[in-house]
Amino acid sequence: MKQYTHAWLGLKAIELLRSYAGRFSDERNEHLEDFLRFISSHPSTFVRGAWFPDTHICDNLQGGHTWKYKLDAVNGIKVKYRPPMHNNCYQLVKDGLKQKISLNVRRSDLPDRCEALSLAIRDMILITNKVESGDVVAFNDSQVALLFLMLAHYACDAHVPVHCDDRDLNKPPKVHGDLEEFWEDEILKFYKVSTENERFNLDENYSLQLDDDQAGFTDSILYKCDEVLKESEWSNLDDAKDHWSSFLGKKNNNFWDYLVSVCLVSFHMSLKMFPIDPPDGIDYETLRIMETSPFKEDVLKYSPLILADAINTVSLLWLASWERWELLKKEAISA
Ligand SMILES: [Zn+2]
Repeated sequence: MKQYTHAWLGLKAIELLRSYAGRFSDERNEHLEDFLRFISSHPSTFVRGAWFPDTHICDNLQGGHTWKYKLDAVNGIKVKYRPPMHNNCYQLVKDGLKQKISLNVRRSDLPDRCEALSLAIRDMILITNKVESGDVVAFNDSQVALLFLMLAHYACDAHVPVHCDDRDLNKPPKVHGDLEEFWEDEILKFYKVSTENERFNLDENYSLQLDDDQAGFTDSILYKCDEVLKESEWSNLDDAKDHWSSFLGKKNNNFWDYLVSVCLVSFHMSLKMFPIDPPDGIDYETLRIMETSPFKEDVLKYSPLILADAINTVSLLWLASWERWELLKKEAISA
């Protein structure tokens, strides 16, 4: 995913979390309010911060941004993790998930990255809350916000089908680049953004603004993504228990389990969109997906679901990361 796509997904996650205000238990409603107050006050961090994993850290080749599977009927295993029911792509590939697969361990770190970042956030907040303001060991809010944006970056990459597929669909093939370029162009076309200042032009409530001069929004994948989001309320929203893990899917206990389940679905989305045996006359080495059927149609059809799933993930993992330190603090006090 590219720079503005990452920032846009984070800003959409704030929008989604705002729509959930008041929907949880009193305690979680309070956590949500605190988190929104915190993250909304860092709008200038979004475009740059969400992009640091690509510009400053550059751990792509070490697997930070990927979790790469291949079908492997002989030596593979069945992966047991499943995402929550609100994952839209899960519904599309459910039947294929029992196939045996194997992991390219050298290119697969993504769930570990997310787990580590979330625990780092928890620790930073707990340390900072324990010490006097201004103490040299305290972290400031911008540093914590930056880690939230980095967490969002890696978590969104889990939703990109080609990030979870061990086939090389990136250089010389242009499949990977074309897909991400298409999303980026749509976002830059329909939303108010200042690329010079590297920021979206937000309104006074720190919300994204559509560019009214640009016709065709209601036919775009971004409009359809909003429609999908309205329909895909978090599973378990009303009866989730105190612990954030109730949102992650039945047997998923932590971020790692959840992200493996997301990556498994993404791998199968990649097989669906870019089959191992492409139609006659298609060569992935030279294919331009946005100029060729049925690839173009498939990208238009599946992108709203993929992007909506990514927005749900960022919202969910942000709220859960916030609750991680709140819960630990509570346990520490009651121990
Ligand atoms: Zn990335």
